Amino acid sequence: MNKSDSERIASVLENNGFQKASKMNEANLIVVNMCSVRQSAVDRVYGKIQNAKIKNQNEKSKCKIILTGCILKKDRERLFQQVNLILDIKDLQNWPEKLGIKNQELGIKNYFEIEPKYSSFPAAYVPISTGCNNFCAYCVVPYTRGPLIHRPAEDIIKEVKELIKKGYREIWLLGQNVNSYGIQRETDAKQNAKQTQNINFSKLLRMVNDIPGDFWIRFTSSHPKDFSDELIKTMAECKKVTPYLNLPVQSGNDKILRKMNRNYTVQKYKNLVKKIRKKIPDIALSTDIIVGFPGEIKKQFENTAKLLREIKFDMAYIAQYSLRPGTTAIKMKDNVPQKEKKKREQILTEILKKTALEKNKKYIGKTVKILPVGWEKGFLFGKSFHYKTIKAKGLKTMLGQFIKVKIIDATPWGLLGKQIV
Ligand code: SAM
Ligand code: SF4
Repeated sequence: MNKSDSERIASVLENNGFQKASKMNEANLIVVNMCSVRQSAVDRVYGKIQNAKIKNQNEKSKCKIILTGCILKKDRERLFQQVNLILDIKDLQNWPEKLGIKNQELGIKNYFEIEPKYSSFPAAYVPISTGCNNFCAYCVVPYTRGPLIHRPAEDIIKEVKELIKKGYREIWLLGQNVNSYGIQRETDAKQNAKQTQNINFSKLLRMVNDIPGDFWIRFTSSHPKDFSDELIKTMAECKKVTPYLNLPVQSGNDKILRKMNRNYTVQKYKNLVKKIRKKIPDIALSTDIIVGFPGEIKKQFENTAKLLREIKFDMAYIAQYSLRPGTTAIKMKDNVPQKEKKKREQILTEILKKTALEKNKKYIGKTVKILPVGWEKGFLFGKSFHYKTIKAKGLKTMLGQFIKVKIIDATPWGLLGKQIV
């Protein structure tokens, strides 16, 4: 989401006379697009702003620093003195006026209408919603990004059609909880009159899948509580929707899941995975996990370890619990010591290494379709249809185009291939 925001920020600034600087110390405007999901990300922002300020002291022409993105109240108050302006990302269409740089009347009414400056060709990120209404106990997103607002389907389709015309091959539909797309609450409808559409995420996927052209559709994130049978069927039937799914479980213990306000049980999650695997046998599954949530005792952590061994994920994004001000979990005692959190993260990483290697080895000898996005010293780099990281001997001329490679080796984190000509 932050990358997608940055692409829109770049577009607004470039449409109003700015150009990208090649180095930070050549810039006369620095936009820091903040993420507050974990404290480590927040600390990096403090460091970056400090660096920019030190550089500013040495430069003759001082540059402005703007802070935006997901910002907590506490950081907003502390960073207010250190930057020139704090601007709301949801208000991006009004930035030129606020910065006094407006030189184009584009008639843009909201964030979604801003045409981004895409920066990841042949992949493009297309937001389908902003915000979140789920209020997981540990998470800042509902506070920093506000309530869930859906983007009208017709605008999403229009953007994807234009991207396909321009040669984009990998379309990412983005939202904090994509499968709640179209499931609206009354308050959402009030906020966006255009939302009175009867299109849920499955229907939206089918509409994108029906756009003519040779491209892949990926999406993130999915909340297990909203993952319907209709969506599984849609994924199985839509040939452009890739067999890759990030399905964050967060914990393998029911009591912790309840405390996290996740609204599903471990059994429900397992049943869901079973159903998905039955309909899409080759699905590559990844998940998100938090270790050391307040009150997580060893036995509860072991349930998570057991779940990882059982499900055998292709990939897992494992995070140590980070206290976030303003969330409901901040009121719970953060009683798992830092050392123990680290140990739990390492234990899960070891399990993941084994299951990911086991999964990846199954590709050895097979021919897979990949989309190369980088080339270095005779090797192409990219992702496969199943979102596996691929390094393959091949020609630079194949960048940005689908090619077939034969897999010759596997590690837990990727596959090695050879281009088939
Ligand atoms: N919407 C997605 C979902 O339902 O899981 C996840 C979005 S969240 C921004 C991305 C990931 O960051 C989460 O899945 C979670 O594992 C991690 N995360 C969020 N808050 C966290 C916290 N306070 N401490 C550690 N990890 C956190
Ligand atoms: Fe945060 Fe995702 Fe929960 Fe929303 S669904 S509160 S974004 S973890």
